[in-house]
Amino acid sequence: GPVLLGLLPGAPSCPHGPALLFEKTSQGDGERRRFYACSACRDRKGCSFFQWEDEKVSEARLAAREEYNRHQQPPSTHRQNVERYRNFVQLPIAKRRFCLECQQLLLPAEWEKHSGHQFLRDISTAQLKRPSQLLFPLENKKANAQYLFTDRSCQFLVDLIADLGFRRVLSVGTPRLHEMIQSKALQEDDFKVRSLLLDIDFRYSQFYAEDEFCHYNMFNHYFFGGEAARETCRKFLQQDSGNRVIMVTDPPFGGLVGALAYSFKKLEEMWKEAEGADSSQEMPMFWIFPYFFESRILEFFPSFNMMDYQVDYDNHALYKHGKTGRRQSPVRIFTNLTPSMIVLPAEEGYRFCSICQRYVSSGNQHCESCNSCTSKDGRRWKHCDLCNKCVKPSWFHCSNCNCCALQNHLCEKTNAGCFVCGKPGHKRSACPSL
Ligand code: SAH
Ligand code: ZN
Ligand code: ZN
Ligand code: ZN
Ligand code: ZN
Repeated sequence: GPVLLGLLPGAPSCPHGPALLFEKTSQGDGERRRFYACSACRDRKGCSFFQWEDEKVSEARLAAREEYNRHQQPPSTHRQNVERYRNFVQLPIAKRRFCLECQQLLLPAEWEKHSGHQFLRDISTAQLKRPSQLLFPLENKKANAQYLFTDRSCQFLVDLIADLGFRRVLSVGTPRLHEMIQSKALQEDDFKVRSLLLDIDFRYSQFYAEDEFCHYNMFNHYFFGGEAARETCRKFLQQDSGNRVIMVTDPPFGGLVGALAYSFKKLEEMWKEAEGADSSQEMPMFWIFPYFFESRILEFFPSFNMMDYQVDYDNHALYKHGKTGRRQSPVRIFTNLTPSMIVLPAEEGYRFCSICQRYVSSGNQHCESCNSCTSKDGRRWKHCDLCNKCVKPSWFHCSNCNCCALQNHLCEKTNAGCFVCGKPGHKRSACPSL
């Protein structure tokens, strides 16, 4: 598919902020062409924006595009939503309605406009404090991919963050973590952690003040609320000279790692500009992502380590915790904090490897040859002396391919030759001419 080149100054904008530049190679003649596409939506259904890099766009079309982008913004502003919330909480329970179709809190004056829509009644204060349970998750894979943490995983993260001594959490695409922190802070006097949620899901603006939520696109570091929202984020990061703040993010997995890394580095830059901050330090981060993206993440954040903890989700059938016989979740925590500080729960079988100086899952055996606990997926991996590394338990060494693979794999056709140099006997990744 198309390769991401990045976010360029002067890029055209779609309703989701500046578009990203991609390059695609045509199947037929191998010709490469560059084009701009939406950063947030991975398919044209979510956002139809498309422009060739060298395309001339007329003044009239530019104006129409601007008009269209404005028109695509939410019908009410964050401020108006905050105002509605203020009025809503003053209503007696019997008058508190939530429109399921519009995913919106309704004031009595708005009932008529929503007559014929399905709604929930008697919305309690407790429900208002857990918006991620009130709103339906936006599961459309290509855009939002909203997969909410189980209570177990969310509780684990909150406790870990508090135990590590953090006071502020920049929650980037983690609405459920945000709400758990905010409600704990209300309920428990000695719980001092606060959170600022950055998310593209504007429905959350109905429940949070402007210093608790910013409408944000994490693929192009775009604040929909403009300079004021950016300032809110900056202040949050720079408070207390930038001390005791951590960024936690759980992006859509289909997402482009390079674009995400770009935004997270921008957020880190904001943090580094704090007065009295030590700019040689890195901003503490938890990046929650599947283990098979490890090398991609390390390309951009070489100081990161992957923790063995399996993060699991309520509405994702495949990604549930292994202990109950369901499938194991491939989702992990990547962090630049010292691994030994990330204490994983012994009740779930995690143990400390004193050689690796980190907590590992119960099935993860320390390999003498690799001198590390090598399993990525929680199962016990085995060492292959020919490959000189540990491999999945289901793999065997194939002398044709000269590497380990599944027993029934199709051998790289030795006569087909390498993709790069055309010579037989090796894959393109091992090509000596590279
Ligand atoms: N597990 C998390 C939710 C992760 S799902 C939790 O329980 O809190 C991914 C989140 O990222 C969703 O909240 C989704 O709205 C948000 N998101 C998706 N695309 C985004 C984008 N381009 N910019 C910012 N947030 C985005
Ligand atoms: Zn778009
Ligand atoms: Zn070990
Ligand atoms: Zn090994
Ligand atoms: Zn083979």
